[in-house]
Amino acid sequence: MGTDSRVELSTVDTDWSCHPDDLSGFETDYGGLYSGRVVGVAKPRSPGAVRRLVAQALANGIALTPRGMGHSGSGQSLGWNSVTVDMTSLDAVFVDVATATVTCQAGATWRKVVEHCLTVGMLPKVLPTYLDLTIGGTLSVGGVGSESARHGLLVSNVDSVALVTGNGEQFVCSPNVRPKVFAAALGGLGRCGLLVEATLPMIHVPDTFSLVRVSFDSRSDWLAAILNLDPTESWSHVEAILGPDSATLELTFGGSAAIPQWVSRFQSREVVKYSASDFPSRYYVDFAREQGQFPVFECFVARQHCGSMVEMLSSDLPAGYVIRCVPVHRDGTPPLVRIPDGEVYCVAAIATKSVAEQLRDVLEFITRANRTCFELGGTRYLSGWLGSMTLSDWRAQFGDAWAEWIRAKEALDPNGIFRSALFPGPGLIAGS
Ligand SMILES: Cc1cc2nc3c(=O)[nH]c(=O)nc-3n(C[C@H](O)[C@H](O)[C@H](O)COP(=O)(O)OP(=O)(O)OC[C@H]3O[C@@H](n4cnc5c(N)ncnc54)[C@H](O)[C@@H]3O)c2cc1C
Repeated sequence: MGTDSRVELSTVDTDWSCHPDDLSGFETDYGGLYSGRVVGVAKPRSPGAVRRLVAQALANGIALTPRGMGHSGSGQSLGWNSVTVDMTSLDAVFVDVATATVTCQAGATWRKVVEHCLTVGMLPKVLPTYLDLTIGGTLSVGGVGSESARHGLLVSNVDSVALVTGNGEQFVCSPNVRPKVFAAALGGLGRCGLLVEATLPMIHVPDTFSLVRVSFDSRSDWLAAILNLDPTESWSHVEAILGPDSATLELTFGGSAAIPQWVSRFQSREVVKYSASDFPSRYYVDFAREQGQFPVFECFVARQHCGSMVEMLSSDLPAGYVIRCVPVHRDGTPPLVRIPDGEVYCVAAIATKSVAEQLRDVLEFITRANRTCFELGGTRYLSGWLGSMTLSDWRAQFGDAWAEWIRAKEALDPNGIFRSALFPGPGLIAGS
């Protein structure tokens, strides 16, 4: 399937190209470690075009790879003898004040969604810190933001989605309507179908935000602060960053929310005021222009193991990396997005610059981090560099949901048309 480079897909409402000049931009992802084998790029311009595209691919034995902005780190969005389905033309956003929801086509970026929602003084409950990712790409991995301490993952804040499966069927599903399809769509890594649309609940936002950045002298004080945050305090956003020379905790307070005394009395403290419209995009970086190699390690660990995970990462941290730690409220997490039981933290080692010159050391570091994560009963966030995952790691990742993860693929994509450089075969993982 899909190895014929003479393949041609052209349907109403879909831009199509197999010209090498048009393919090159789709043959790598942000991580910069994998090269795809893309036989063509199809860019559907309507939900109907997505259905027709899948039907045509099924009829002609052509493999497809969904792609948003290509920010994956392990070939998740890279074609493998397949046609890349570039979803970025499907980017309409509809705000419904009456139901306090926003319905977004899957190729819309969070930046566009934020702009629309702010026109009515509202926002989705959780946003990624970096907004130039698509709705479809983020819901396909999970979505962590500084609101996750309050509201959980992005995938835990979805009312419904429209998905075109590998059977060529379109389903609108929710926790109550076709819940198994809904579950397979969230955190699905594009392996069961193409997300076309998602409806997300919104909340009112205050006019201003105060971000208080507290700096610690030691890693242990920093860790104690993030692990012992009091949920009854009025912060709305939490994020902690540990760099080679700094250890900061950022707590954000909306409007006139009271800043706890321990924070306002803290010696080493900086307060930054934001308007509602500036706050979501406070970390704007033009990552799209960056080129190089950016292997990222991200995982979820239970509170009691967070210190061990941070210690392992920081004792070995390669130059150019920082550690990011975010508490995650686990209620409502869909079953196939795996996070440990209890109080959970997302811990990441993020490359702040290309690490091409020290790549071998960095990949060994991530392999060690991967081991530590699974030894501590943690799970990986499936967006960064996963090259170190063995079959037994994948089984540990999915735990008692392993059979369901395999079953979802078999039920929703029985012909194995959805593939990627990460999952190059018609099934899931070699040997599974
Ligand atoms: C600089 C940077 C900052 C980041 N910041 C955050 C952050 O703050 N919070 C966070 O949670 N994550 C963050 N991430 C990780 C990011 O959320 C994931 O990499 C996400 O998948 C990227 O979205 P994308 O649109 O680029 O998707 P892509 O990389 O294009 O695709 C990712 C996966 O989703 C699938 N996919 C894409 N679109 C669809 C669709 N419509 N239907 C079905 N499957 C689809 C692809 O096949 C692939 O498996 C960041 C990554 C980078 C590189």
